[in-house]
Amino acid sequence: MNTVESSEEWEPNVPIPVAPMFEWPPKLIGVLRFFVWKQFWPGGVMWIGLAWACWWYATPDLASMANFELGWMVILWSRNAVIVTVFAGSLHWWLYVRQGQGTATKFNRRWPSGSQRFTFGHQTWDNVFWSIASGVTISTGFEAVGWWMFANGHTPYRSFAGDWPYLIVLTVFTFYWSNAHFYANHRALHVGKLYDWAHSVHHRNPNPGPWSGISMHPIEHLLYMSPPVLLWFIPGHPVVHLTLLFFSLLSPILTHAGFERVRLGDSASNRPSFLSGDYFHQLHHRYFECNYGNTLVPFDKLFGTYHDGTPEAHAVMRERQRSADRS
Ligand SMILES: [Zn+2]
Ligand SMILES: [Zn+2]
Repeated sequence: MNTVESSEEWEPNVPIPVAPMFEWPPKLIGVLRFFVWKQFWPGGVMWIGLAWACWWYATPDLASMANFELGWMVILWSRNAVIVTVFAGSLHWWLYVRQGQGTATKFNRRWPSGSQRFTFGHQTWDNVFWSIASGVTISTGFEAVGWWMFANGHTPYRSFAGDWPYLIVLTVFTFYWSNAHFYANHRALHVGKLYDWAHSVHHRNPNPGPWSGISMHPIEHLLYMSPPVLLWFIPGHPVVHLTLLFFSLLSPILTHAGFERVRLGDSASNRPSFLSGDYFHQLHHRYFECNYGNTLVPFDKLFGTYHDGTPEAHAVMRERQRSADRS
């Protein structure tokens, strides 16, 4: 285990472990700690809290969404656009505009810059455009269909008062479902023309920032934002749908922040900090052909594409690339 702050790159502790429930022999304490501190704090609590707040205060009545009408869909789009803008915008402002913590825990020491490969010639404006114009629009489309299904009785409604154990299990399941789905669609996006047409937009960002998280081509958004489709066909509650929506929309903003930790003050102060960037996915942006999924559902381990950040894993990846080039 080693933490290095070199002149070039910030390297967190490696090897990057898989989630403890996939380790053998199982360690119960490790699994519980993981659930509380990694999966549900702060991310899970934020997505679930935001889902309840939006269900109570920022979602039209289900009965009013029984027909597709522009009015209520514009309300949903505006709500989602504001949430993404506040979340990504405040992280971007602190880390990249004010440079509030300098390069402390920044994976790549360089700052995003202009380049002709970006829409509008600059990474930030490129990322903002694709996130809002395509990402928010397509995720709102999936949300709208979900409400229409509930409003017309196609999706059976369950209440937390009567079915809370089932709905808690369903909420936990959605995180695993979403991550497994991510591995599958992401792996497909790296094949042939799908990469050239669609996924290359996301991979314009070898040095990602918060706005890069959901900066994708509409084809990729249609695949990436589609996990709610499963929820349309099983009994549920709107808050579970909203939790999945915010997990899909907002967690990539955090994991693409480009910094391992966000510190709400300079390095020397004792201000609060929280985990943000995902080094596992950062390695995917750096090397492309590894780490298609994440550590929560470690399909990369199963299919031999897991890069844990160590020189040994790097050598295995290079050998895999050489043999693919030979064949
Ligand atoms: Zn990414
Ligand atoms: Zn990729």
